[in-house]
Amino acid sequence: MMSPMKTPLSQPRAVERLVAGQATSDGAGVKLTRVLTQNLQRRLDPFLMLDAFGSDRADDYIAGFPDHPHRGFETITYMLEGRMRHRDSAGNEGLLGNGGVQWMTAGRGVIHSELPEQEEGRMEGFQLWLNLPSFDKMRAPWYRDIPSAQIPEFELEGVKVRVIAGQSHGVAGAVQREHTEPLYLDLHLAPGASFSQPLPDSHNAFVYVYRGDLQFDGGVQVPLQRMAILANTPGSEGLRFSAGSSGARAIVVAGRPLNEPIAQHGPFVMNTQAELIQAVRDFQAGVLA
Ligand code: MN
Repeated sequence: MMSPMKTPLSQPRAVERLVAGQATSDGAGVKLTRVLTQNLQRRLDPFLMLDAFGSDRADDYIAGFPDHPHRGFETITYMLEGRMRHRDSAGNEGLLGNGGVQWMTAGRGVIHSELPEQEEGRMEGFQLWLNLPSFDKMRAPWYRDIPSAQIPEFELEGVKVRVIAGQSHGVAGAVQREHTEPLYLDLHLAPGASFSQPLPDSHNAFVYVYRGDLQFDGGVQVPLQRMAILANTPGSEGLRFSAGSSGARAIVVAGRPLNEPIAQHGPFVMNTQAELIQAVRDFQAGVLA
């Protein structure tokens, strides 16, 4: 039995800015909101992208993401509702279902497809891209499907906490990463419930609200479908916020910045232009498969 401990924070982080995200489509025509866009990659280092998707209309998601490559980073897909099948060139295959996570380390390269395995109903979730340190970008690919039941969770004073990565209140998440130390939590807060999480002031952090709204100290509100970038105020001890009167659901994402050059060309994220050119050549030569 897990026994989480509440840690008091006297100096929580402030909200630095709110971001609405941009409606776009990707893959073969999947409608989504790009919340963490390329211009925020430096500010939110080591995170490169966050897409939020959510629709009851099959037309918005049915085309999926047919075969495409990745190199140099990790993709983390969290499915709140829906079924998506993954297949890749390393021979991995898995079905991502309600509440499950797929964690894929592209490393030197994979080609994969992500295709809905439903023709109707709701599909909702997130895809987060986490950068790899320079020395690890060409490592062997790695992949893990984490069904909902294997994601550690606990309840604390009106908050259900699902720990996808990192650790919260003494509970270790499903995945740990040494260099970027990612924290990835899904929080379900009852009306008025508050949550706190210690975090080094150097780690970049954001919160995205997908139900209800959140209140921060000083009366700052984070409304539905907004990302709050949290200030790295020196000496701040972590995160603290409360749900509004109708409760809230939100993901919390934080990590240690790599402070390395970021060069991106579509699905390849390296440190230099020369490495991007090599990635495109390797893909064209069939080396990624
Ligand atoms: Mn992909």
